Parts: sequence; C-alpha cells; structure tokens
Amino acid sequence: MFSKILIANRGEIACRVIKTARRLGIKTVAVYSDADRNARHVAMADEAVHIGASAARESYLVADKIIDAAKRTGAQAVHPGYGFLSENAGFAEACANAGIVFIGPPPAAIRAMGSKSEAKKIMEKAKVPLVPGYHGDDQSPELLAKEAGRIGFPVLIKASAGGGGKGMRVVESADKFADALAGAKREAKAAFADDHVLVEKYLTRPRHIEIQVFADSQGGCLYLFERDCSIQRRHQKVIEEAPAPNMDPARRKAMGEAAVAAARAIGYQGAGTVEFIADQDGTFFFMEMNTRLQVEHPVTEAITGQDLVEWQLVVAAGGKMPLGQDQLTIDGHAVEVRLYAEDPARNFLPSTGTLVHLKLPEEDAHVRVDTGVRQGDTVTPFYDPMIAKVIVHDRDRASAMRRMATLMGETEVVGVATNAALLKALCSHPAFVGGEVDTGFIERHRATLFAKATPAGDRAFATATLARLVEWQETRKINGDPWSPWNDHNSFRLLEEGHDEVRWSDGDRDVAVIARHHRDGHLRLDLPGGAQEARVQRTADGRLAVGLGGATFVATVVRRQANDGGFDYTVFADGESRRLRLVDPLDVTQYEATASAETAVRAPLPGKIIDLRVKAGDTVSKGQPLLVLEAMKMEHTLAAPADGKVKSVRYAVGEQVTEGAELVEFE
Ligand code: ADP
Repeated sequence: MFSKILIANRGEIACRVIKTARRLGIKTVAVYSDADRNARHVAMADEAVHIGASAARESYLVADKIIDAAKRTGAQAVHPGYGFLSENAGFAEACANAGIVFIGPPPAAIRAMGSKSEAKKIMEKAKVPLVPGYHGDDQSPELLAKEAGRIGFPVLIKASAGGGGKGMRVVESADKFADALAGAKREAKAAFADDHVLVEKYLTRPRHIEIQVFADSQGGCLYLFERDCSIQRRHQKVIEEAPAPNMDPARRKAMGEAAVAAARAIGYQGAGTVEFIADQDGTFFFMEMNTRLQVEHPVTEAITGQDLVEWQLVVAAGGKMPLGQDQLTIDGHAVEVRLYAEDPARNFLPSTGTLVHLKLPEEDAHVRVDTGVRQGDTVTPFYDPMIAKVIVHDRDRASAMRRMATLMGETEVVGVATNAALLKALCSHPAFVGGEVDTGFIERHRATLFAKATPAGDRAFATATLARLVEWQETRKINGDPWSPWNDHNSFRLLEEGHDEVRWSDGDRDVAVIARHHRDGHLRLDLPGGAQEARVQRTADGRLAVGLGGATFVATVVRRQANDGGFDYTVFADGESRRLRLVDPLDVTQYEATASAETAVRAPLPGKIIDLRVKAGDTVSKGQPLLVLEAMKMEHTLAAPADGKVKSVRYAVGEQVTEGAELVEFE
C-alpha cells in the first residue's frame, strides 16, 4: 500500500479521498489554485502545493504542474477524483512515465470510453444494447440533419467528449436542428475543446440507471449493484439513490452482467460506472461508461457497507478486491441529494458569493455529509457550484426520503441561492415517493415542486422584527455603559407608550411592524394580520427562541448586507426560509437601485458573451432571447424582462463581463 498520495482535485471529492487515506494511515498532499488558497481540502491535507491561477485550465487541468507537485512531495500515487484530469488518458500515461501510480484504469481503457461515439462502437461489438442513433465520424451539418431525420424526432445531440450534461441538445423537429447543432457544438468546443457530436433517439420518460463496477489486476471484475439517477435538471443529476426503485432481481443481474462484460471488453481496472438509459418497461440501453469514481458513489457505499476509495487504493496498489461478487449484499436504501448554489426559479442559474451562513445537516448513523466548504468560504465562478452532498441511509426508501426532506428543511444557507427547497419538495413529493421516477420528473411536476412566490406571513415579519430588536439590545450591551439612560433602549418616549417601528419590504410590499414594550419584558407586535403578544431570547447557539401568540418555536435569523448596500434578513423557521429587506427610511440608495434595475438586463454571473441576438433600436417582446452568456462552462440565454425597445447593447461577442454588468439597456 502507498504511504503518501496526492489528490489532483478540490472541493468535496478531495476532502472525501483525504478522509479515507487518513483512516488508512496514508499521508495526503493537496493541490490548490489561487482561489482555493484557504479551501477546506487544503486545510485537511497533510501538505499542500500551490499549482497556479484560479481558472482550472491554469491549475487543476495542468498535468505537468500536478506531476511535478507529486514528485516534489514524494507522493507515490495520484487520485484524480472526478472531473478535471480524471478521464484524461494522457495524464494517466504521464503519471506512469514519471513513476507515479494513477489511481484509476489503464490509459487504454480511458481512451476506449473517452469518446461516447467510440465507446458505442466497442459496445456494439460486445453486443451490449444501444440506443438507435448515429455515432459516425462524418460531422457535416447536412449529414447529421439527414441522420436525425432517419432516426426520427425527437433526437438528442450529444458531445462525444461530453460530460455533466454539457454540449447536449434535445431537438423536437427538423426545422430546429441546425440551431441546436450549432449550440451543442459551441458548448462542446468551449468545455472539451472538441466539437464532435453524435445524434441518437431521444427517449421520452426514460430512467437513468447505472451500474457500479470494479476490477482488479488479478482478473477480478464485479458489480456493486445499481444507482438510479433519474431526477435531473439540465440533464444533470440532482438526486441519486440505491437500489433503484422497482428493480427486479433478474433485471439487476442482467444489467450487472452486461456492465461487467463492458468492463472486461476494455481490460478495465479500478472503479467505473456503466450508465444505461432504461425505458419504463425496464428495457435498457448502454449510454456510456465513466472511467472514474462518480459523484454519487456514496449511495453505493451506504447500501453495501464498503468504502470505494479504499477499494480504489487497494486495487491501484496491485491488491485483490476486498470482497467477491457473492459476498456483496444490499442493505436498506440510500439517497443522495446535491445541494447546489443555484437558483431553480431562474432556470438553475449558478449563484456565486460568500457563504455568510452555512448550517448543513449533522452526521450520524443515518446521515453523511460530503462537502468542500465551510461557513465564510466563497462559491466562485471558477468551479462547480456544488455546496455539499447529503446522503441518507435508512431501512427502506420511504424512510430515507422522509428523513431527507426533513434535513433539507433544516439546511440553512445565506449568501448564495440554493436548491434546498426544491430538494425538500422532491423528497416529499407523493409521486416521487410513490415510485414515479424518470428524467422528466422535475419539468413535469414544475407546478407542485417550485414554491410559488407567496407573500411572507406574520410569523416571518414577527421573527425578523424580534431579531432586529435583539440586535439593538445586544449592541447596546457591547457599546456602552449599561447604566446610562441614553443607552437604555426600551424606547421610552414622553407621554407615550414605548414603541419601535421596523419596516420591511417583501417583494413589492412594504410592511411596518410596531413593537410595543411592556415593563415585564413582553412585547406586543402589530403585524399585518393583527396584534400578537411576543417574547424573544437568544439561545446558547445563537438562534432565537420565540414566543408568538400561543406558539413557541426556534428560528435562525441571518443579517447580510446585499450588493446594493441594503440589509437582508433571512429567517429560517418551520423548515422554510424567507428573506426580507430592511427598509431604512434614511437610505435613499436602495430606491435608486431598484428603479434602475428595470431598465437594463445585467449579467447574473461573470462570463463571456458568446451570442448577441439584438441590437440598439430593436423592439423586443417579453421573454425574447437577447443574448447568450457562457458562464461556469454552461450557456445561459438571457431574455427580455418585459416588452420594450433596446436603447443600447454594451458589449460585443467575445467580451468578458463581470457579475452585475449592464448588458442591454432599454428605453
Ligand atoms: P453526460 O456525460 O453529459 O452526463 P450522458 O450521456 O450521461 O451525458 O447523458 C446525461 C443524461 O441525459 C442522462 O442521464 C439522461 O437523462 C439524458 N439522456 C441521455 N441520452 C438520452 C436519450 N437517448 N434519450 C433521453 N434522454 C437521454
């Protein structure tokens, strides 16, 4: 076994690998970019090497720098994690040439599966079932369009070098094919420097079921059952579970054996995943093989009781797999959710910013949390915006989903938008819990999954107001002589009952809450729905214990200064969160900020303009696409917020823009 390894990755996966290495007594070396100088994975490792600038292509994607770091620190092996260089055959070879073990499959196996089209050719030969499609070398738009027609619409265009749903387009009809092809090729070129695509039949209501395989250098090759990863947005996984709902043992065996056949066909070693797309009736087709550890491997670990990173290390060091096929069994049910910094209401747009407040679920016998960030860290535009993976293991699927829904309700994040509410809604959705599982689930159930923007209730206004009052009281205690009458903030006013007024804005509604102070510490709050008696106390862990009317509850309230200088208060209570803006009557800037926002479309995150669809003087209607911004390796189409006339377009195609930059101005 190795005594020191280098982890050529960042974030949660780097932390996760370090954890197993530490348990096995193996020393770890982290690598980091400028942006990650203070990252969690750097703090966790025994040593760390700086490898370059923040952009991945200048750091985590530079093979030479990583190999150099391994040599300098005496690491005997490199764990690539997932993404970055994990499926780069050239990197695996370079490691070998430098005398360093690459913890992954042989370069030839990576190469064989590296291109979705090549992989399909190999699988066709090995008689593994394929989705009908075209995966040839002729890439002329005319031929691809003709093939699409032959396959029959709808079709799916996929980047051959693809991954993470990038460079993928569903095309409903022939007239939309050319545009979609251009978009897919553009995205593929940007993300993978390779615009080769394939076209295949687009299955409606399919399930994504994948098999975890493992092979060692001594002829062993087995499968660790399946994962269902059908719940997706933008063709990217959001929830993964094991075992797959409604899987019968005969089909499990058939899929497992097909996956093992696929792995054997390419002389596989280490951890790999064979992905299948399955029809509702269970018929399955090979999609691709990922020659690395997957993001969702923890659900397999949970139901099998195995540590797959440990298996990887054992196998990479030349050892035999710890167990044989017959010794593997499925225990209970596991589900994983990916908590992303993104805004589901804005088409899952990634959200960047500092995690001012972060409360993830606590780990216990049922709960595992894999994360690469801590409170105070920043989600940057440079890397994947995943905050954490939360994994629940329980006796059955219903129990696991129930537990997960509760955990998502208790998760608190301030500083970036997250999908926590959507994850909660999914795990408690009767159809999903009842076993309706396919890749179109989120789109189909949009109406019930996406919380409608309801006005804030009295509880939220009361809690935020109480937080504000507690803040006043606490600053008074810190800042001054507690005995001075000038510091006594019980709002004593001559000839008047003592009261404070706190004003909030909730969307376009302004609400003033009057708090009247009684002598015994009680308060009476005038709320939109009527007056209520209230009391409040700070708990030892910094939350607020609130009594309101007849009810008592504990809430977290986080105050944060927004980009425009104003203050937002986020209230977490009852498994929900609500953000209110403090209205400061003396501050005029906040009114200006909202007024100008309506006459311009701004960059929601830093990125590059890759397509402009309008010019000055154009008349546009609400929802009409204005431009395409490439950010975080994805294309984001920005649309007109209302009908209007374009006054000016501030940037040209190819230009880099910062977050908040005014892109298109309206008259
Ligand atoms: P990537 O490597 O970018 O993740 P995949 O080939 O694994 O791309 O596909 C990602 C997802 O896209 C799948 O999980 C599935 O939801 C959807 N998908 C892929 N192929 C098809 C298809 N032929 N029909 C319908 N959906 C598909």
